[in-house]
Amino acid sequence: MNHAIRVHEHGGPETLVWEELPKPEPKPGEVRLLQHAVGLNYIDVYFRTGLYKAPSMPVTIGMEGAGVVDAVGDGVTDLKVGDRVAYAGALGAYAEARCVPAEKLVKIPEGIDFTQAAAMMLQGMTARFLVKETYAVQRGDTILVHAAAGGVGSILVQWAKHLGATVIGVVSTPEKAELIRSLGADHALLTSENIPARVKEITAGAMLPVVYDSVGRDTFVTSLDCLRPRGLMISFGNASGPVTTDLGVLAAKGSLYVTRPTLNTYTAKREDLVRTAQDLFETVKSGAVKIAVNQTFPLKDAAKAHEALEARKTTGSTVLIP
Ligand code: NDP
Repeated sequence: MNHAIRVHEHGGPETLVWEELPKPEPKPGEVRLLQHAVGLNYIDVYFRTGLYKAPSMPVTIGMEGAGVVDAVGDGVTDLKVGDRVAYAGALGAYAEARCVPAEKLVKIPEGIDFTQAAAMMLQGMTARFLVKETYAVQRGDTILVHAAAGGVGSILVQWAKHLGATVIGVVSTPEKAELIRSLGADHALLTSENIPARVKEITAGAMLPVVYDSVGRDTFVTSLDCLRPRGLMISFGNASGPVTTDLGVLAAKGSLYVTRPTLNTYTAKREDLVRTAQDLFETVKSGAVKIAVNQTFPLKDAAKAHEALEARKTTGSTVLIP
């Protein structure tokens, strides 16, 4: 028997329904996984509320998981029953068993368990492309990271430190400030502070070459005020709602650049996915970046996990166990 969490109508966490469904059969090019762990991500909230649209309804939400190959569809040559694999960016993860296109899967190396793999694929590959590709962080850079104690944030802080940056993290509580200091953040600012004024003080007026902002609507303009002329605003999420600011503000604030990147674009080609995942696994195995799974929930209690995430009560990564 198979179970999944499905959404029939967009809304709050109560719209996440635990249902019995048939075990899916893999189509050509797919494999079926028995999932051992499913990653919780803020994008799951967007699909639940309808901010991001699923191709059809009802929808099994969730983008990321790790498990064992259980059946192999026609044409799949590089995976076999029993392989340990993980993926990110494939809608339908909140299930005990599911099918995934083989081209989305990577083998989990020894030394990394299912829970860690499910926790790191989406958030870790995102942190990686943000610090190595969207803006290549250099030794000596001072950078700012919003939601620095969160899933992507706590990996981003560690990776940027590893690359030699001075890291300013922004969080909502003193406990989270303590947490990001323990991850290596040089400065832990609270959302209640005047962020641009604090950045001015920290950089002796130079301001920043780049800001990593996943909060969106509430922080967009404040983030621009932290940049130096021609600095880069990386707006990669909407935890507080989507950004609707007029582009003219970029001129007024010093010929700024803005980008709205997604992991999908950076891992669209198979070789980019493999390279990104390998670098992530190696960086984690080296100890330079630690994946903190600070919350786990049974998959059937996904609603409780969503409540905690939206109430800003989680830190690091959260994993759902089928
Ligand atoms: P987090 O663990 O970072 O949780 C979200 C955090 O955002 C909260 O803990 C909270 O931290 C902060 N926050 C600020 N304002 C709000 C608000 N109004 N409501 C809720 N939280 C708020 O989640 P994830 O690591 O899963 O994702 C982080 C962000 O990265 C999301 O915006 C997500 O969409 C984005 N993302 C983008 C990707 C891409 O490809 N572009 C890929 C992966 C994630 P605090 O209390 O400290 O303020």
